[in-house]
Amino acid sequence: MSIVVRNVNKNFGDFAALTDVSVAIPTGGLTALLGPSGGGKSTLLRIIAGLEHPDSGSIEIGGTDATNVPAQRRGVGFVFQHYAAFKHMSVAKNVAFGLEIRKRPKDEIAARVRDMLDLVHLSQFADRLPSQLSGGQRQRMALARALAIEPKVLLLDEPFGALDAKVRKELRDWLRRLHDEVHVTTVFVTHDQEEALEVADTIVVINNGRVEQIGSPDDLYDRPANAFVLEFLGPIT
Ligand code: ADP
Ligand code: MG
Repeated sequence: MSIVVRNVNKNFGDFAALTDVSVAIPTGGLTALLGPSGGGKSTLLRIIAGLEHPDSGSIEIGGTDATNVPAQRRGVGFVFQHYAAFKHMSVAKNVAFGLEIRKRPKDEIAARVRDMLDLVHLSQFADRLPSQLSGGQRQRMALARALAIEPKVLLLDEPFGALDAKVRKELRDWLRRLHDEVHVTTVFVTHDQEEALEVADTIVVINNGRVEQIGSPDDLYDRPANAFVLEFLGPIT
């Protein structure tokens, strides 16, 4: 599904977190919101998810105005940096959670959970507790949980930020592969240029609450919109 953000403004007190942000997120693409810390990336993602309301402007998801649609009815799967797993529930139960609160039939839930655990190669860990998984496996569980509800869009906020470099690299490959398999419109937040360049087809550079540039990795390197983008991306390595 397409995501269109139009002229969004968001203030916290008298601090402008987002100023006149307009972005068309490519349908079925893998898009990174990239920029330095404090730039407004998470705020924009939370506004798309419906976890935060813009002061002005609109959000369209799949061609329909979603600005006033509550989060749980936007068809959005969300993965956070620190995944809040239900500690007392098995991996399978954690993945099933979103389907259970939506009151899907039991056999449908069981089949879907099996497919999702298969997709992220965690089938053999279905009955474990989250605490018995590694950090990387836990984030794969989070991906399975977010995808279980068949979201129209998948949103990830620094999904791999808390993990060490090797696992982070592994999970980047996972995200790419999962995306190639399920083709869901995906937006992820990162402050890591290399991660954005390696994983995303489209990069939205955000700084000081404003969009500096939107383009493919090649566009950004070949035609940086301004000095900020040029400097933030740094030399090609
Ligand atoms: P990023 O994800 O790019 O690091 P954020 O969107 O989290 O940036 O934050 C942008 C700015 O808005 C930061 O200066 C942050 O302190 C501020 N901010 C974010 N959420 C709130 C909030 N709930 N209340 C007050 N200030 C906030
Ligand atoms: Mg953030």
